[in-house]
Amino acid sequence: MSLQRRLTLFFILIVILPLAAAGFVVQDVVVREVANRAESALRPAVNSIVARYNERVSVLGDVTRASLSQNEDFVEIIEGDDRSNTDDFLKRRLNATNGLDFLIALNPGEDIAGAATKRGFFLPGFSPPTVDEIMSADGIGPGYVRTEPIEVASPDDNVGFIVGGFWLDDTLLTGTSQPSIDTHLVAGDRIIASPANLERVVRVEGIEEGTVEVEVDGNGRGEVSSLGDGDMYVLAWTPFSEVQGLERNLLGALVGLLLLAVIATAVLAYVLARLIARPLEELTEGARAIAGGRFDHRIPVRSKDEVGQLALSFNEMSDHLDTTITDLESSRDQLQRAVDRVGATLRSTHDMGQILDSILSTASDAVLAEAGSLWLFTGTRDELYPALSRGTDEVALDRLRVGEGIVGLAAERGITVMLPAEDGGPKPSRNEPRFPVTLAVPLYSSQRVTGVIVLYREGAFPFDSKDLDTVVFLAEQGGVAIENVLLHEDAQRLSLTDGLTGVWNRRYLQMQFKQTLASANRFDRPFSVLLLDLDNFKDVNDTFGHQRGDAILIEFAQRVSAALREIDTFVRYGGEEFVCLLSETDISGARTTAEKIRQTISNDPFTAVGEEPVSLTVSIGVACYPLHGNGYQSLIEAADQALYRAKEEGRDCVRVAKRPAPGLHLAT
Ligand code: GH3
Ligand code: MG
Ligand code: MG
Repeated sequence: MSLQRRLTLFFILIVILPLAAAGFVVQDVVVREVANRAESALRPAVNSIVARYNERVSVLGDVTRASLSQNEDFVEIIEGDDRSNTDDFLKRRLNATNGLDFLIALNPGEDIAGAATKRGFFLPGFSPPTVDEIMSADGIGPGYVRTEPIEVASPDDNVGFIVGGFWLDDTLLTGTSQPSIDTHLVAGDRIIASPANLERVVRVEGIEEGTVEVEVDGNGRGEVSSLGDGDMYVLAWTPFSEVQGLERNLLGALVGLLLLAVIATAVLAYVLARLIARPLEELTEGARAIAGGRFDHRIPVRSKDEVGQLALSFNEMSDHLDTTITDLESSRDQLQRAVDRVGATLRSTHDMGQILDSILSTASDAVLAEAGSLWLFTGTRDELYPALSRGTDEVALDRLRVGEGIVGLAAERGITVMLPAEDGGPKPSRNEPRFPVTLAVPLYSSQRVTGVIVLYREGAFPFDSKDLDTVVFLAEQGGVAIENVLLHEDAQRLSLTDGLTGVWNRRYLQMQFKQTLASANRFDRPFSVLLLDLDNFKDVNDTFGHQRGDAILIEFAQRVSAALREIDTFVRYGGEEFVCLLSETDISGARTTAEKIRQTISNDPFTAVGEEPVSLTVSIGVACYPLHGNGYQSLIEAADQALYRAKEEGRDCVRVAKRPAPGLHLAT
């Protein structure tokens, strides 16, 4: 569910729930109040009917007792014994009196002497009782109140009786009903009078003085009072249906109100939620734009409140990013131009170290690599060695076999390797540093791979195609430059090496001797010279031919080179004579090395495919600086004299020069 929907729902609930609760409370209070009011009006209604009843009873007493029984005219009429006169008199009297409904005259034998009645009374299903019926009933029957016969007396004797009464009908109730209250006269469990307009049929059960529960088409609450001494009651009641109807109406109104409130709140809540959610959506869109590289994206600032401030800050951030990216791009362009220029620089120098450093540092800077190294083939082209590295421990890097790891693969196939790759890509070997992002590009010269430049990043940003183009360009330029250097070095080496054996020549010996002598002097260290001459080599030529002699000379040079240290210099001095310049070596070290060389030659015969093996020996003269001389000439001469002695003393041996006599001036 979106934030906007959640907010809308939340706002609706926050308004509607309390409103609904308040509505139901109010409805309940109103219903109770209405019910209470109706109930509190019951007692006065009952009392007013009882008062009206009492008033009639009092009128009845007055008329019958005081007015008629003492009336001389009436005495005379009864004594006249004329029924029509009696009826007329009683009728006039009845009409003149409010609250009376019938008057009956009896003669002394208590037979009817005359009667007057007003209208009938309201009793559903009944006709007004006849005079006889009235007289045969008790004092108060259902539907009427009647006095006992009161004696009408002349001063002398009884002339008859007078009986009066009134109907217990709706006239007692007239005007007492209210909209929510109905009044009735009840005899036993029967209604004997109700307001004329009442259509409800009422059955009252278990009536007692006071408040009763009555049943009327359902239920209602009522109050009663008894009339007189019999089981006559006045009932005033209010039906529950009135209150229930009110409750229903109020509920309907409340539900309608709530529905209206829901609609109104929903509209308002939607607008409010939109106001809140919209800036968030705009911020999200902005963040997506920035993530997608659209740094010119701006968010509308609609207010000065917190949301507006956020939008403002976001736009400031975008501005800042935009400027930074522009700056970065321009510096990248500058760097690219520098890369372009580096090609020319590389071609103008023959210093291999400087070239390698230039390639690696320019490439690293151009593609923002944290580390990198440059690998070159060994002479045998079956391994690669780390010529230079940045940001990684160069000493820790070991040689790599061609085909091994990332660098080995790039070198073997002449391909570019970029990691991380979709298919996982090759894994670095144990000898390669481990970085999450790697780019390896082969260096070519004359269509041949000469090495590999590899760059690393520590972060998660992979190299892109621009980076690749830059490094490939530098690798191409670097390859050409390396080739030039190698060609240059070849040319130089050729003038300092021996054409047959490939070892250094006498010119190089002289150059190297100067350096060795200077270093020995500065650090006060010794060094030694060995002069080697193959024994009876002329015989080899004579026996096996000059060509075989050449091949043996080549193998001789290889065997001696292998027996020496890297820092020693091995030189073909001329013909079958060679010189070893052993730096940092005293007389005993020199003797040991010479002996080792001698054995290397004499131990194994020189073989060649399809040829007879040739056993050879070598004689070696040893001279030591500063013991036997302090310059090139003197040391070579001293070694030569020692060699001469070796020849003299039977060949295949090592002889050390004799110490010059003290005070003798040595030529240099
Ligand atoms: P030793 O030194 O024991 O006295 O006897 P040797 O036969 O070696 O005598 P010497 O040193 O005087 O002879 C040098 C021989 O080496 C002469 C020559 O035939 C041979 N020689 C010199 N240079 C070359 C070369 O480049 N190739 C070949 N095949 N032989 C060479
Ligand atoms: Mg010789
Ligand atoms: Mg010789």
